[in-house]
Amino acid sequence: MAGFGTQAIHAGYDAKGNDDAVSVPIYASAAFDLENAVRGRDLAAGIENGFEYSRVANPTVDALERRIAALEGGVGAVAVSSGMAAVTYALMCAGEGGGRIVASRDLYGASVDALGDFLPQFGIHCDFVDDINDLDEVGALIGPDTRAIFAETVANPSTRITDIEPLAALAHRHGVALIVDNTIPTPYLLRPIEFGADIVVHSTTKGITGHGNAIGGVIVDAGRFDWANGRFAQFTTPQQVIADETGRSVSFAARFADQAFLRRIRIKYLRTFGAVASPFNAYLTLLGLETLPQRVARQVETATRVARHLTRVAHVVKVNYSGLGNTPQFALAAKYFPRGVGQVLSFLVDGDASNVRRILDGTRLFSYVPNIGDARSLIVDPANITHREVPAQTRLAAGVSDNLIRLSIGLEDADDLIADLDQAIAGAY
Ligand SMILES: *Cc1c(COP(=O)(O)O)cnc(C)c1O
Repeated sequence: MAGFGTQAIHAGYDAKGNDDAVSVPIYASAAFDLENAVRGRDLAAGIENGFEYSRVANPTVDALERRIAALEGGVGAVAVSSGMAAVTYALMCAGEGGGRIVASRDLYGASVDALGDFLPQFGIHCDFVDDINDLDEVGALIGPDTRAIFAETVANPSTRITDIEPLAALAHRHGVALIVDNTIPTPYLLRPIEFGADIVVHSTTKGITGHGNAIGGVIVDAGRFDWANGRFAQFTTPQQVIADETGRSVSFAARFADQAFLRRIRIKYLRTFGAVASPFNAYLTLLGLETLPQRVARQVETATRVARHLTRVAHVVKVNYSGLGNTPQFALAAKYFPRGVGQVLSFLVDGDASNVRRILDGTRLFSYVPNIGDARSLIVDPANITHREVPAQTRLAAGVSDNLIRLSIGLEDADDLIADLDQAIAGAY
């Protein structure tokens, strides 16, 4: 199989079928010609594969899905309009009908809100754990209604690493799925499916697109999980939207086998809730993916230099970056992240809120932005912005204290970034 850099440029697209266009064309078409009555009927029944209507599938989006599936080592993918659509669709698809999810508390703010406060309104409940790597704590919470375990592979902003392999083994012993959010590392730094994850979700808004110019998300399936194991009635009950050749209703598991989860996302979630990726955004993401390895490698190198420098700066009392050799997670970093843990890091400063404000206002090169994975370097105070809605106890368990500052390192020169932080911190006290 071709290497990662080659696949980032070529996987999932065939120029021959596209008038020899070397760059993936933007198919700005809401609908597609069904050609003839028999083909139209078979497309509508899902017996034949093809494009009908861009709420469900589109050729530009399809190329993106195939490329990300290849980069993650999955059997397929469904692209959606945002990372939060990817997170909630995946969690709902596993948990629908009264299921429970066991999840780390150390998650992106909107994911904490979804699991703790919003999905319960739809009958899906969450059991949060303080330490997702404590298998006794996680195992004790798995009950008859548990459907999935959910964690970020590298948490935002603590950069804590999830030990995926034993977590997947635990999940599978109980017949529940392991769903991971792999946004921070991107598949260049980590391919969770190789360590047993069943479903991988991304906010492609971040490192995958890489230029901060398109919101998007994707759900990738390893294709190994048995959704017909008795815990997931939604996959084994016949559905009116899918029929076999005789017109009889069939279940997702019976009809689609290793594509059952992705087909349910597409046919139920995209088709009814409609958070569809636009062809233009899919194109921007494909463009970003072409340079993913080069961008992320450079950002990791710079982030490591910045993190190391910050450990020696006055008023900085702690630096969170699992890529620094001295953290308690050194063994996990070495096992899962031989190429580094990513471009996000955070640091704690002394003083009070006014010092934090002066640092944020004092940077000239860093943009004050609640985003990560951009070509530009970004700075933010998570307690007030990205994790504002997260209850204080959960926030503190995730390491988000009031004096924490998060950085996302871009592609500028490391010396310029270090000089900017130095002058901002020195001027804030
Ligand atoms: C940004 C982010 C999300 C949400 O993605 P959007 O594209 O902003 O909807 C989910 N998970 C993580 C880890 C993120 O960083």
